[in-house]
Formats: sequence, C-alpha cells, structure tokens
Amino acid sequence: MKRQHPDGYFVNNPDLFDEPTTLNRESVRLTRYAIASLDELNALERVNKDALISFLLNNFKAPSNAIGNLKGFSALPNSAVNIRSTLDSIIILDKLDALGTIDTEAVAQLILAYQNNDGGFWDPGYPEFGQQSTVKATSYAVRALHHMGKLNSTIVDSEKQQQINTFIENSWSTDTKAFSPFPGHPAISSYDAYRAWVSIHHLPINQSNTQVITDILRLEEMLETLNTTFKTTDNLYSEEGHSERNSLKATHLLIWMLHDLERLETISVPDVVQFIKSFRDPSGAFTSDIYSVYSAVDTLSLLSSTRMTKQLMLYQILTYSSIIVAVLSLLTFAILHRRVESRKHKSLVRRAQTDRLTGLNNREFLEQRYQTYQEDHSHMAFILLDVDHFKSINDNHGHLVGDEVLIELSSLLSNNIRKTDTLARWGGEEFAILCPATEPDHAKQLSEKLRSLIETTEFSTVKSLTCSFGVSCASKYESLRELYVRADKALYQSKRDGRNTITYL
Ligand code: GH3
Ligand code: MG
Ligand code: MG
Repeated sequence: MKRQHPDGYFVNNPDLFDEPTTLNRESVRLTRYAIASLDELNALERVNKDALISFLLNNFKAPSNAIGNLKGFSALPNSAVNIRSTLDSIIILDKLDALGTIDTEAVAQLILAYQNNDGGFWDPGYPEFGQQSTVKATSYAVRALHHMGKLNSTIVDSEKQQQINTFIENSWSTDTKAFSPFPGHPAISSYDAYRAWVSIHHLPINQSNTQVITDILRLEEMLETLNTTFKTTDNLYSEEGHSERNSLKATHLLIWMLHDLERLETISVPDVVQFIKSFRDPSGAFTSDIYSVYSAVDTLSLLSSTRMTKQLMLYQILTYSSIIVAVLSLLTFAILHRRVESRKHKSLVRRAQTDRLTGLNNREFLEQRYQTYQEDHSHMAFILLDVDHFKSINDNHGHLVGDEVLIELSSLLSNNIRKTDTLARWGGEEFAILCPATEPDHAKQLSEKLRSLIETTEFSTVKSLTCSFGVSCASKYESLRELYVRADKALYQSKRDGRNTITYL
C-alpha cells in the first residue's frame, strides 16, 4: 500500500492523496510515525527523501510574532508554527540524517520561548490550554531539544532543566496518584505518565542520578496506579482510568517508559504480543492506520530488544520453530517436486528416444550414442538389417501381423546382442546395431549369428522369416552418415545377391 504523496508527506488514507490539504492536516504527524516505523524496519531507503525534506523545508519559518532568531515548523505551508509540528519535523529530519539542512539553533530558541516561569512549556498548537504549561507540550519541547542535541548545550542550562523537573514534580496528582495534564488538575490519561517521564529522562542533570527520575515520577506509586486504574482485564493498558477499552497507543507508550525504566516485569509479554498480532490483516501484515502500525512495530521492537522474559523467549522459540517447520516442509516439497519433475523429464526424454511399436531405441538415440561411442572407441561396426519381402507379409496377413513380426524380431535381436551393442529400429522394417570396439570379422560373425537365428526361429503367424544384412566398420573420424551409406550399399548388395545374406563393405 503506497502512502507517500509525490509531494513528500505520508497520508493515512491513500484515497485522500489529492484532496485539499486540510484533509491532510495530520500529515506531518503521520509522516513522523511512518518514518519512525520504516526506520525501525530498516526500510528508510524506500522513502522519497528529497520530496519529503523539501515538503518540510516549505513549512520552516519564523512565527508571525517573532522577536529575535526564532524558527520552527508548521504542519502545512499556510498554517502557523507550533511545537508539535516542530517536534514531528525535527524527528523526521533526524531519522533522515538531514538536520544539517536547517538552523537548529533557531529552532531551539523558538522552543525555549515557549517555556513558562513554572518550568513547563505551552504550545499554540493546543489553543484549548491557552498559554498554560502542560505536561504534553513540555514533553514535545524536551524531545525536540533532545533530537537536535541541544539538551547538552549551554542553551538549556541546568536552571532551565531544574525548572522542568519541578514542573513535572508539581504535575503529580496526589488524589489520583497519577500524572495530570498540568499542575492542579486531576489525572485523566495514562499517556501523561509517559509524557512526564519523557520530559525529564533526557535531561542531563538527571542522567548522573537516576534516583531523581524515580523520585519525581513517584515510580512505585505510579506503577501501582497503572496496574489498578489503567490496566484492563486482558492485561493491556487503557487511556482513561477504570476503563475496559484497551488502547494500543497507551500500551505502546507505557511499555516504552517501562522498558527504559527497566520495569517491564509488570506487564504480560504474551498478552501484549497476542494483542498486537490481532492488528494484522489475514496476510499477516500491519495495514491499519499509520499510528497503529507505528505503535505495533515499536512495541514489538521494545519487547524484543529488552532482557527477554521467559514468556517472550518461549514465544520466540515457538515462532522460530514454526518458521523452521515451515521452511522444512517447503524444502521437502521442493525436493519431492524436483524428483517428480526430474522423473517426468527423464520419461519425456526416454519417450523421445524410443520407438513406439517395438520399444527399441529409435534412430535419434542411436545417432546420439554414436557420438559418445566415438569419444571412447577408436573403431566401431555398424550392422544394418532389413526384413526380406516384408511387403508380402503385410499383403498376405495384414498390417497387424506385420507389426507383430516386427515386435517378435525386435526381442529376438535384443536378446542376442552384447550389452555394449546398441540396437535401434532404423525405420520401417529396417534395424541397426552399433557395436563399439568391434573388428569387421567380429561384426560379420555377429551378423551371421543373427541371420541364422532369424532363419531358424519360428515366428507366430508367418512361421519363417529371413533378413538381409549390410555391415560396415568406421574409423574414429568417420560420421555415422558415411558409415550408414556404406552399410546401406552393402545391404542393397545382399538383396541383389538373393537376400538372407551378409555383405561387408
Ligand atoms: P525387400 O526384401 O526388398 O526388403 O522387400 P520388402 O517388401 O521388405 O521391402 P519394401 O521396402 O518394398 O517394403 C517394406 C514394407 O514394410 C512397406 C511398408 O508398408 C512396411 N512397413 C514399414 N513400417 C511398417 C510397420 O511399422 N508395420 C508394418 N506392418 N509394416 C511396415
Ligand atoms: Mg526396407
Ligand atoms: Mg524389406
């Protein structure tokens, strides 16, 4: 399913490719999730990077009321700059290794302009909160600064970092024992736990002492609330408290946080994996909306990169063993298929070399055999024999009796030649025997043996039968054609000499 618009951005609904841009308002956001998923799958080379970067650069500008050197991103060329779109654009550029195309200092200045005195950030992209600091906007600001590598610079000094810690600390709701959207508000969404954690965990002042993060997050109490208030009976997380509506997004964000805090033991990996698998379509692919694909892919990757729990290992072993079983069955099938095919092929080849009526080799086969004999033997004999007055057998007894005579004669001949000799039906009532490494005298002896055998054999309907022989011998460099021409001449001579005789030429 193709979701990247020729203009660079991604859309959730490919049918809306060319709709007015308002319908694609979420494009920067969705593009960020698409790029993050593709990055996770090592598939970024399939993205039209140039188009995407130029789409983003079209949205890069100073806000309308800018003082000083502030620059950020809007979601669309004609809309206003905000932190959310700036974060999305920064993450995309970072993943595409294209942060060098913009002035990141100007972006850091823009983001810091949205920090309030309480240490939190606000975002004009969320007008419902006005200029109130929110945990949400704060988490976007910190992530954007982190992606641009600005948290370690003097631009976000320790005082500013401390203010962020304080703001998050104050956003803890003692009533609900969870994080609120902003200080003084009751906790409503499980997302805010993740947002609070993201806001503080990259800060350099917290890196040296991880206990600070645990303390600010009231980790033990928070985990308790997550398990009692935000967990569903199917062992997943919901967005709202005391709800049975499991949420892929909440599950993903909380697993992300728990993974980094090394507290993943509080979740049930098999239940999560099962839940994520339910988002696959019958072909096994994740083809739902881009955000769900991103959550599914990232959650699986978080679960597999961590210290594996026993259940996950079991799940992987099961997955691997079913893959191995599938590969083995495919291999077996392929081998059997090849055997059948090669048998089929062999039988086709054999049919092409066999005379239908007598089951003997045909002329083509004898010609091939001559080539191989020629490589190994310095001399060969060629015996051509023709049934005498065969036409009268057909005339007197009918064609079927004629056929029977040919079949009887064939078995008589094949039972009385050496294994190394090749007998073939040359055509009509003519037969040929190719005898490798055979001197003319031996060829004559063999011909004589066969001639008298035929003469003395009692055939079923016709009783008696004779054949005339023409024998020739070849040097290594002669063609079969030359050999045949001489044998045929010799045979003609035998016919002229009264038949039932042998001529050597
Ligand atoms: P000659 O002694 O000079 O060889 O006489 P002939 O009658 O054997 O020779 P001729 O070439 O005149 O006749 C060969 C006959 O063999 C003609 C043809 O109808 C018959 N014939 C060729 N192939 C077959 C076959 O597969 N089955 C039968 N029944 N007859 C065949
Ligand atoms: Mg003939
Ligand atoms: Mg004949």
